Amino acid sequence: MFAIRCLGVSLAFFLLVYVVFSVAVVSGWRQVRRVGNRLSARRLATLLFILRSLPCAAAVLITLGFVVPSFLLLEPRVVAEPIGEIPLTLGACCVALFAGGAWNAIAAQMRTSRTVAGWLQGASAASGCDPVPLFRIRPSSPALTVSGWRQPRVLLSNAAAALLNQQELESALRHEIAHVRRRDNLKKLMFRSCGFPGMAGLEAGWSEAAEMAADDAAVSNGGEALDLASALIKLSRFASVHGATLTIGLVEDSGSGLNARIARLVSWEERRVASSRSLFPWYLAPTFAACILSMVVIYGGALSRVHDLTEWLVR
Ligand SMILES: [Zn+2]
Repeated sequence: MFAIRCLGVSLAFFLLVYVVFSVAVVSGWRQVRRVGNRLSARRLATLLFILRSLPCAAAVLITLGFVVPSFLLLEPRVVAEPIGEIPLTLGACCVALFAGGAWNAIAAQMRTSRTVAGWLQGASAASGCDPVPLFRIRPSSPALTVSGWRQPRVLLSNAAAALLNQQELESALRHEIAHVRRRDNLKKLMFRSCGFPGMAGLEAGWSEAAEMAADDAAVSNGGEALDLASALIKLSRFASVHGATLTIGLVEDSGSGLNARIARLVSWEERRVASSRSLFPWYLAPTFAACILSMVVIYGGALSRVHDLTEWLVR
């Protein structure tokens, strides 16, 4: 009975923290991005990813760091207290949330695997994209994409390869390698597993920043930037593909996002990439250390407060 109560209360708290943080992120991420626009694309993408993961991370941290220990340490085990309706209902909703997240992630993975297997029929291995395996595929779309997160592969259609010159192709492949290095497909899988209504805008913002970050990683001078811009224009004629959620291509968006990327590459500046502000400036380090220290000092008191809350919830 004690274990079931502990589980019920922990799940109920997980759900509450998850919902509160999700609502805060959905309503406030645009303001954070406005401030983050001064950052480089790479750091903006990291910031948006942290924001997107925040509800899940906070729920895990608070549940495992505070709720479970406070229950185990402070809850008397002898009292045969029945579990109330509120924690029971919230706990059941939390189990449904986990099941829905797992289902979303598995379905996206299966759909992607099926679609990619179709693209790879009759494909041939090629070189020039080390350290990631490159395959030349028969369908014209996707023109150029990276699939998978455990064993990523870059797929290049024969039609796209025929359109690009050597420099354009090399720039485009470096863009795909940057997606692999930043594990962007794994991040997309994580988004699928912790869904919440209203997160689509933040995910689109992250996707846009991730594309620009991969562009920045692919070019190191104005000439390479023009090559990549030219590859983007040439490959934008291929229709975007559906059904493969966990792939990330060279051209993810054919609208304003693509125009913004091309404009950025055409006016590429080395200084802009090199001298952008740090996501966590050095002067925040003492503040961060002070937070950790005060957390250690007040931990005992916080456990007792959390236990009061769980008591209130159980009744
Ligand atoms: Zn891309």
